[in-house]
Amino acid sequence: MSIKWRITGLFLVMTGLSLLIFWVGESVSIASNMLRFNLGFTLLAVFLPASVVYFSTSQLSGRMEKLYFATQRIARGDFEHIHLSDSTDELGQFTTELNNLSRHVEIIVQNGTQEAYKMETILAGMQEGVVAVDHVGQVVLVNAAAENIFERQGEKGELISLLELTYDSELEYLIRKVLSGQQLSATRENLIGQRTVEMQINPILSGQGQINGAVIVIHDVTELRRLEQMRTDFVANVSHELRTPLTSIKGFVETLLDGAAEDPTLRDRFLKIIQAETLRLQRLIEDLLTLAHFEGRDNHPTMSADKVSYVQKAYETIKPVIQSFAQTKGIIVEVDLPETLPPLLIGENLLSQLLLNLLENAVKYTTEGRVWLKVQVRQETMHLEFGDTGCGIPQEMLPRIFERFYRVDKARSREQGGTGLGLSIVKHMLEGVGGKISVTSQIGVGTIFVCDLPRALL
Ligand code: ADP
Repeated sequence: MSIKWRITGLFLVMTGLSLLIFWVGESVSIASNMLRFNLGFTLLAVFLPASVVYFSTSQLSGRMEKLYFATQRIARGDFEHIHLSDSTDELGQFTTELNNLSRHVEIIVQNGTQEAYKMETILAGMQEGVVAVDHVGQVVLVNAAAENIFERQGEKGELISLLELTYDSELEYLIRKVLSGQQLSATRENLIGQRTVEMQINPILSGQGQINGAVIVIHDVTELRRLEQMRTDFVANVSHELRTPLTSIKGFVETLLDGAAEDPTLRDRFLKIIQAETLRLQRLIEDLLTLAHFEGRDNHPTMSADKVSYVQKAYETIKPVIQSFAQTKGIIVEVDLPETLPPLLIGENLLSQLLLNLLENAVKYTTEGRVWLKVQVRQETMHLEFGDTGCGIPQEMLPRIFERFYRVDKARSREQGGTGLGLSIVKHMLEGVGGKISVTSQIGVGTIFVCDLPRALL
């Protein structure tokens, strides 16, 4: 029943009851010939209905109070179901609606929390840094990668301005332009410590297309730029390496055409130089092709059980070249290879090339004394030591000799027919088959290269 009718009914019943008590009191007074006012009945006629009304309205107010506290709980995010004893009146209907509303809000809040959690997980897992600013340029979000880039890890607390976070006034200027709508988006590249980062700025738009803020996505492009630089340097180096012998060949051919060919001694000397330069060009192109082959996506030398080789056999194929080269320089070659060496997990051609490059270098950079190759069989690898009593390499240059075209002494390398690519080819090969190379050297005493090659465990 509705509250309106319930209170009206109660009022009518209580008024009737009051009148009835008065009437009974009056009748009792007349019957007992008491002309005095009957106080007992009067008090009963007033207080009995008043207590009934008080009791009934207290119940009503108790339910309303319960509802009041329930709405406060909902506002705080506590969506517990509200129970009211009587649910047939307006308050009961209101409670049902409030319970429905509370359930609805709870679902919305749960969805929102889940979305926020999802977003937080995505942002935390991203390699790119993400920074969001509001419409006045105040930072509202920084993910872990961005904290790392700007070296702000663990600094929680109040929001800061973009300048305080990035110390980059140019970025701040670009953000202002994007926030004011002068520019649709912007990109900036900057150096932060040792890292090169690329920052892309895009506006955050509301449903009505208004600019509410901006988001900056930060990519670490250090490695990319390094590779680009390496490629540029490589092209420059290759051009330079090709140009030098070509210029020489061109010069001598022109001199021969200009009349030097008439003189047999000059002609022979010049032709020999042209022949040497041509050989150098050929070697350079071969080395470049080998490197390009290894760097090709599918051509990495890989560990494969069907590609095994034996050091003795590989050495036999290059022995004549090394022996004759050493003989011309009067250098002793000591190669100590026991008969029963186990097989290695590397293709035979690769192993021959590795031995050739390292032994040829040893002879090339030694003027007197000896070069040697020693092996030691270990549990999973074979340890190969290539030593010489040559000129040695300065300590500070040791880490760089495996770089392409890096030479300690350019003139000496050229004079010996070096291309500057031999060691980088060796390093590539070894890395491909899971091996390692290291070097120790002392100026004027000699150099030792050590290779650890994986054994083919049959
Ligand atoms: P290159 O064709 O010039 O020999 P490498 O890549 O084989 O090129 O070697 C790079 C540089 O390392 C050489 O130019 C030389 O300066 C140095 N080097 C390599 N092996 C030796 C060695 N055994 N003794 C001294 N220096 C060496």
